[in-house]
Amino acid sequence: MDKSSILIYNRKPIDGNCRQVGMNMTKTYDLVVIGGGSGGVRVARWSASLGAKVALCENDRMGGTCVIRGCVPKKMMVMAAQFQSEMNCAQDYGWQLGASTFNWPQLKNVRDQEIARLSGLYRKMLDSNQVDCYLGAGKLLGNHQVEVDGQTLSAKHIVIATGGKPQLPKISGIEHVLTSNDLFELKEQPRKVVIVGGGYIAVEFAGILNGLGSEVTLVIRRSHILRGFEQKAREFLQDQIVASGVTLKTCGVDKITLSADDKKNVHLGDGQTIEVDAVIYATGRVPNTSELNLEAENIEVNQVGAIQADHLHQTAASDIYAIGDCTDRVNLTPVATTEGTILAERLFNDGTKEMNYQFIPSAVFSWPPLASVGPTEEEARQQYGELDIYQSDFRPLKYTITQMTERTLVRLLVERKTQRVVACHMVGIDAPEIMQGVAIAIKAGATKEQFDNTIGIHPTSAEELVTLRNKLDQ
Ligand code: NDP
Repeated sequence: MDKSSILIYNRKPIDGNCRQVGMNMTKTYDLVVIGGGSGGVRVARWSASLGAKVALCENDRMGGTCVIRGCVPKKMMVMAAQFQSEMNCAQDYGWQLGASTFNWPQLKNVRDQEIARLSGLYRKMLDSNQVDCYLGAGKLLGNHQVEVDGQTLSAKHIVIATGGKPQLPKISGIEHVLTSNDLFELKEQPRKVVIVGGGYIAVEFAGILNGLGSEVTLVIRRSHILRGFEQKAREFLQDQIVASGVTLKTCGVDKITLSADDKKNVHLGDGQTIEVDAVIYATGRVPNTSELNLEAENIEVNQVGAIQADHLHQTAASDIYAIGDCTDRVNLTPVATTEGTILAERLFNDGTKEMNYQFIPSAVFSWPPLASVGPTEEEARQQYGELDIYQSDFRPLKYTITQMTERTLVRLLVERKTQRVVACHMVGIDAPEIMQGVAIAIKAGATKEQFDNTIGIHPTSAEELVTLRNKLDQ
């Protein structure tokens, strides 16, 4: 019997409208996207809205790292944690508060419901744009064919947007640790934790768990957190994190062993051992590319598995593209989504725009948060030569009548020759909210004089940006 004549129902990830597909029959598309995270969903939806026939493969719920186990649930936990300092401040402002406790399962429950709603919205958006969604891990077969869930899809264009996954060092006892993915699944709050790593995720979770009342030790392996960020901002933030109650160790971890009652012993590089409820490793992420069978299309990867793609996102194989964290270029959600939009426009609307990676603002939602746009001082000196640097370090008005000792740091880097502002680095409350607007000015090429000619909003921390008058002695 001709198997292609047998009709079966294609399995769908959530519910959705099932499409009838002939078993073993190759379905043909203009575009097949592998990965349903921020970048993949954007390129699929945008291409379909331009009239392309699109399929998307995803082996989990729609939304990827950002929606399911990254930016969005993390930010909810950051906000939950901030209430502790708000409550402390409230009392200094005259509020009489009763005893307060934090209910971890309740937050998990409402957070999970919201994540399910958002993931469902992603799915609805794809359905309403007639994107065919396949539940399964897409794998390249060669000849522009993708295998997913036992079916073969053929496409003129393929976009790989499979993101990244946590990376763990090979040390003794590593099987006892949790990653950020696991943390979102915990049913109970760990009361005493060690967090290992000094990047975005580690410092953000240190702030979250400390704010929620856990006893936190942050273990890094060099002198300062957040390598790659502005040195002054790193030092400033590190001091504030320690002042907020997090214990910092700069000695790394030798091994982890189990102790009684399923607790973990963390053996530190300085010889000390700490017994904790949970050990969380946030020691970097690697591209999620090892299961894609990239060899079938001769697609090149670097030593960490990042797909090598050119400035138009094209890999070594023609009409096969890669966007987002699987390329390990700038691993941020808004970068992946912008790459997706630009690529869809190029493929299906004669778009000519190219991705511009200059002056991408970003924020670390630590406590207090850090936000920046533009190069570090060191990089700026290499790029622009002589600099004028303006800096302010102050106690925000909000804290002046409270016990809070936390301060804010603002730095502006100005190219001396042109007086153009080329970077801003800020640590302190509201820094991420403030930095978005600064990024527009810097991207537009604003000079220091134009900053100075802008009237401040008084009284705010942000007005500091337009009132910085004294150059640092260098
Ligand atoms: P990062 O690459 O930012 O940082 C990894 C950290 O782990 C570094 O501090 C590194 O230290 C440390 N490390 C590595 N190996 C070890 C080890 N064996 N022992 C101790 N420390 C170790 O990774 P993250 O996991 O924090 O974040 C991954 C990505 O996710 C980032 O690229 C970021 O772009 C993205 N992200 C963005 C967020 C945002 O925009 N707010 C939030 C969260 C993640 P060292 O400096 O010594 O190498």
